[in-house]
Amino acid sequence: MSDTLIRGRVLGFHADPEEVADAHLYLEDGAVLVRDGRIAAVGDGAALARAHPQAREIDHRPHLILPGFIDPHIHFPQGQVVASYAAALLDWLNDHTFPAEAAFADPAHAARMAVAFLDLLLAHGTTTACAFGSVHPGSIDALFAAAEARGMAMLGGKVMMDRNAAPAVHDTAQASYDDSRALITRWAGRGRLTYAITPRFAITSTPEQLAAAGALAAEFPELPIQTHLSENRAEIDYTLSLYPEARDYLDIYDRFGLLGSRSLMGHAIHLTPREIARMAETGTRAIHCPTSNLFLGSGLFDRTGLRAAGIVTGVATDIGGGTSWSMLRTLDEAYKVSQLRGARLNPLAAFHWATRGNALALGMADRIGTLAEGSDADLVVLDARATPAMRLRAERLRGLEDELFLLQTLGDDRAVVETYVAGRPAKSTAA
Ligand SMILES: [Zn+2]
Repeated sequence: MSDTLIRGRVLGFHADPEEVADAHLYLEDGAVLVRDGRIAAVGDGAALARAHPQAREIDHRPHLILPGFIDPHIHFPQGQVVASYAAALLDWLNDHTFPAEAAFADPAHAARMAVAFLDLLLAHGTTTACAFGSVHPGSIDALFAAAEARGMAMLGGKVMMDRNAAPAVHDTAQASYDDSRALITRWAGRGRLTYAITPRFAITSTPEQLAAAGALAAEFPELPIQTHLSENRAEIDYTLSLYPEARDYLDIYDRFGLLGSRSLMGHAIHLTPREIARMAETGTRAIHCPTSNLFLGSGLFDRTGLRAAGIVTGVATDIGGGTSWSMLRTLDEAYKVSQLRGARLNPLAAFHWATRGNALALGMADRIGTLAEGSDADLVVLDARATPAMRLRAERLRGLEDELFLLQTLGDDRAVVETYVAGRPAKSTAA
């Protein structure tokens, strides 16, 4: 039996800190015992070391060990689109994004980008992501092959898009159904991979294609569905002109059977009361992408209002509309969006959101996002004194919540000491 004992200050959430008072476990001198890639025990470091003398010990004290970050909305083919100058969403797509995605027709390019993508996720402490591929099925083959080789829990799907983009990145309704179905069959049950049915958004799908996505959703009801919803005003106006029979943007997806607790709606900013009520009624998730929303000037996500309505929310980078791979940077911007909304996002709630909260949004909290025994041992180790500015600020630390706030406000990949995938170090071992 090959046990590993990972020692440090341990923090994990077993409930939502905005719903219950006692939502987290914090151990000043703690440890996580890993067996066969899963968490076998969490407890006092010295006691676990005595009880498991055969375990290989890795000592991260005084750093903070948490469940690995989860990024529930990111675009695999947009690693080279980040930081592209554009007026707003639709220009950004046409001028930068579609040309970059067209390059994924080449399997060698897709394979090289997959390695870079996973290296960057792990460098930033992200152990699971739900990714949009390019239109090419080969993009998902490349991503899943690379994730499988690293033992990562990865979700993704080829985008379905048969109009209003560039011809080089168009499929057809039938081809998108056939290609998605073939990918589902090819990757089902392999490693820790989950296929996500991925109509890009209503603008780039004909009604026939959304019907094909709905057919896949009905055929594979256990699979997640990911798309975009109500990101900016011009997008909404254009979308409604393409589907004049729909009551509103959400209703388009509703008509094709694409709502439900497996459905992840990226952005979900400019929603009507009817849309909010319908999202809550169907269990549809809203995924906040703060750096992207600020970068593209899209709008301010109403986290508090959507939560109050009973909608499960996630928080994500949305690379490459987003401007950082880091979930710490993402939490910082989410905090600022909340401030502009006149709402608060406290640090415990923020770190819960990026771990267990995102696992809940993905329907995976029984496997990832917490330190529960039996969960996969995906972990991140954080150092709140990683840079000179952080060290200076840390001289006046006032406890755990203050430390978390420092990490999310000043931290980035430099604060990530190590990332574990199924109990194995994955940041320090990357090429
Ligand atoms: Zn997106």
